[in-house]
Amino acid sequence: MNQKDYIEQGEKYILKTYNRYPVVLEKGEGVYLYDAEGKRYLDFGAGIAVFALGYGNKAYNDALKDQIDKLIHTSNLFYNIPAVEAAKKIVEASKMKKVFFTNSGTEAIEGALKVARKYAYNKDKTKDYEFIAMDQSFHGRSQGALSVTGNAHYQDGFIPKEFRAVFAKFNDLEDVKSKVTDKTCGIICEVVQGEGGIYPAEPEFLKGLRKLCDEKDILLIFDEIQCGMGRCGSMFAHDLYGVKPDVMTLAKALGCGVPVGAFVVNDKADGALVPGDHGTTYGGNPFACAAINAVFEQFEEKKVPEHAKAVGEYLWDQLEQLKDQYDFISGHRGIALMQGLEFVPEKPAGEIVNAALKKGLILMTAGNNVIRFVPPLVIEEKDVDEMIRILKEILDEA
Ligand SMILES: *Cc1c(COP(=O)(O)O)cnc(C)c1O
Repeated sequence: MNQKDYIEQGEKYILKTYNRYPVVLEKGEGVYLYDAEGKRYLDFGAGIAVFALGYGNKAYNDALKDQIDKLIHTSNLFYNIPAVEAAKKIVEASKMKKVFFTNSGTEAIEGALKVARKYAYNKDKTKDYEFIAMDQSFHGRSQGALSVTGNAHYQDGFIPKEFRAVFAKFNDLEDVKSKVTDKTCGIICEVVQGEGGIYPAEPEFLKGLRKLCDEKDILLIFDEIQCGMGRCGSMFAHDLYGVKPDVMTLAKALGCGVPVGAFVVNDKADGALVPGDHGTTYGGNPFACAAINAVFEQFEEKKVPEHAKAVGEYLWDQLEQLKDQYDFISGHRGIALMQGLEFVPEKPAGEIVNAALKKGLILMTAGNNVIRFVPPLVIEEKDVDEMIRILKEILDEA
């Protein structure tokens, strides 16, 4: 079968919830992907901010192969060695207290929401609670995660009004404060909004949320699924702000391609959930946790977050130059290897992404006419140069 046949069969057999690009990706090598016809692509999407280590990292691949031969799955009725090791690594890196492993980011969000609800319930036994979430946020597609996702486009048709969180303006502390009621059990936000268009939180906003949650004795949840794990140049994005959450969610680069997520609780939130309150069959299985361990080991050995910070600064300078050169680029935001360029409405970001794909460059859009740059964290300055060269060709034609 050739690429066209696979695309036809994909359309025939896979439920159509995506408009996919007409490309079948077959293998990866470093920062490049290859399609089924052997065409090479420079990858500035990393499978949506997932493949931090690049493709074909030997130590990572070997760790997975070893674990496959040893033990792929047990259940959470037993302990397993990779899970214990991975939990310890996450706790030590985050200076939080305990970890629950999930299979995805969405499930990490579900768990985090349950922690906040249960924390409130344990105090007063009332059953009616509200969350405050942010406009333009994204937390996942299940009913619970969607209920706190500030985007009508995703919610409509699925989440009735009464189940939706109360939404506040991101980076507007007064707006959040005005929405707190005695039903509020938690505030959830991304430290850097990803899908919404790459909007970093302002330091005063996060500090204010922390203070507010302490005063009201409610839980602060930071969704670090996209911005965490080194992408912003520190292990977790909130490290840069010196503000700690009560619950943090992780996924995407946590397993670097093996589907795994986690929510992490601090001392205050620990104990909200007790045996029987939450569970999962796959979550934290030895295979997934071997991936987490290999990621942490590679991060340490290769100083991946520090590298992301350094290359991120280079990327920043290059994108700033583009912004100065082309007047249809209206904004540039982000931190380290999570950056976005916003385009004026007359220049659709989607068309630029399509043109890039034809020229062998994978880019992704986000939010309202933004191109998002979330490459593997191991990219080098020369890869940034190659990306910029291709992008400039496209912008010159545009
Ligand atoms: C991707 C993402 C999610 C959802 O994670 P899945 O693994 O797709 O379920 C949640 N929050 C943020 C910030 C994300 O970027």
